[in-house]
Amino acid sequence: MTKVVLSIGSNVGDRLARLQSVVDGLGEAVRAVSPVYETAAWGGVEQGAFLNAVLIADDPDLDCHGWLRRGQQLEQEADRVRGQRWGPRTLDVDIVTCHDGDTEVRSATAELTLPHPYAHLRAFVLMPWLAAEPEATLTVADTTRPVSLWLEELDPAERAGVRRTDLALRTEIAAD
Ligand code: ATP
Ligand code: CA
Ligand code: CA
Repeated sequence: MTKVVLSIGSNVGDRLARLQSVVDGLGEAVRAVSPVYETAAWGGVEQGAFLNAVLIADDPDLDCHGWLRRGQQLEQEADRVRGQRWGPRTLDVDIVTCHDGDTEVRSATAELTLPHPYAHLRAFVLMPWLAAEPEATLTVADTTRPVSLWLEELDPAERAGVRRTDLALRTEIAAD
């Protein structure tokens, strides 16, 4: 059984519909969904603002590489074209963290780096993540801290660039 934190973003076309396609595509695997945030683009490429959200999901049959492939499949279904790094995209699905049972999986390959190497530097990841999972922690190098603390350490300008919207993703999360 693996549990993942997914950061999803879109800045081309019907952005909300693209994010919704991930929630719908993952179906009953979805455990929690954050509010939707709007973020000015990151990484120096001139482009439209992103809608971002974080999903928590689990699946008894997927390992962490399986989640990477699942995310890429959802990107393809959203007609993502691989272009410029950090450039505009219909849908981006990043694995922020992946737990296998109680163990947080660490990976340092280019294909799959876990936890995601920039997660702790990105308010557009940390703010929705905190909203979806208030007790979450993130390990960077060998330091494990609450997501709330990583967020506090960011430049206030980085946090101010991320705005919570009134948009919402529809879910059918079953009550246990
Ligand atoms: P960033 O990873 O900085 O947010 P990006 O999302 O724009 O950049 P992409 O072009 O979407 O980067 O992905 C490039 C490659 O990153 C993918 O082919 C994938 O194999 C790899 N990758 C490594 N670690 C991860 C991860 N944790 N989640 C998703 N993709 C990853
Ligand atoms: Ca990304
Ligand atoms: Ca990506």
